[in-house]
Amino acid sequence: MAATAYEVGIDASAIEAVDMHVHVEIDNCGHVSLPPALNDASSKYFKAEERTPSLDRIAETYRGLNMAAVVFTVDARTKLKREPNSIEDIVEGAARNNDVLIPFGSVDPLTGADAIDRAKRLAGDYGVRGFKFHPSLQGFDPSDEQFYPLWEALQEIGLPAIFHTGQNGMGAGLPGGYGIKLAYSNPLLLDAVAADFPEFQIIMAHPSVPWQDEANSIATHKANVFIDLSGWSPKYFPESLVKMSNSVLQDKVLFGTDYPLITPQKWLSAFADLPLKDEVRPKILKANAVKLLGLEAGRKA
Ligand SMILES: [Zn+2]
Ligand SMILES: [Zn+2]
Repeated sequence: MAATAYEVGIDASAIEAVDMHVHVEIDNCGHVSLPPALNDASSKYFKAEERTPSLDRIAETYRGLNMAAVVFTVDARTKLKREPNSIEDIVEGAARNNDVLIPFGSVDPLTGADAIDRAKRLAGDYGVRGFKFHPSLQGFDPSDEQFYPLWEALQEIGLPAIFHTGQNGMGAGLPGGYGIKLAYSNPLLLDAVAADFPEFQIIMAHPSVPWQDEANSIATHKANVFIDLSGWSPKYFPESLVKMSNSVLQDKVLFGTDYPLITPQKWLSAFADLPLKDEVRPKILKANAVKLLGLEAGRKA
């Protein structure tokens, strides 16, 4: 069976913003505490039913706002002992809505060589435009050299990757935090990856609470490291992040919501209240993402 390959159909000059961080389901970024029951077989049934329409709903929302959105899930099959959401379905839904959606793939680093094969297939056969990782949920240390072959492969593929950083809502309040290790989401672990793979474009997701200074420092130092501003309302952004977004990091920070957790409308209304220069706002909302995602070419005929 031939794969449905995604091709960008976004007119970058016509849209107003690019949301770098949208979940196909509220399942794995996890700033909300999710009970393990949510992962059980019955919810799997409903997910299967809703998976496809929810992509169309996301597309409709963003189309209505004249924005594009990067959509993804996380493949944490080893740690969660369950199959990830179908990335093939995400690609198909994004292909059907390619005027607004941009699909990212995800692979489980703990699957070793299989992760590399799958990443190559997702990029080559399916046309994903980047990858999403969640080191705490997937249970791996990005700086561990056992994962270097994967970063090397992604660097060669030439697509960016988003890594969750900072606090995790998932597992919060449960014994042992449901076995989730916060340290894997320390942005400093990505500094080593960025240093050793200088052509690998890394997006650190979220204000990296409680490691914002580390994230600011890495994004300032490494040309290949970016920050997406998702997961928190701008009214709660650390002051250092706002200050640096307005100055040295103005070409490195990207609009992102964590939709459906935070709606673009709510995020943008709080963003409007931040003390940012007028010329910086369009960079954060659109220009930086257009460049990073290679959307300049615009709509393909
Ligand atoms: Zn996240
Ligand atoms: Zn997220």
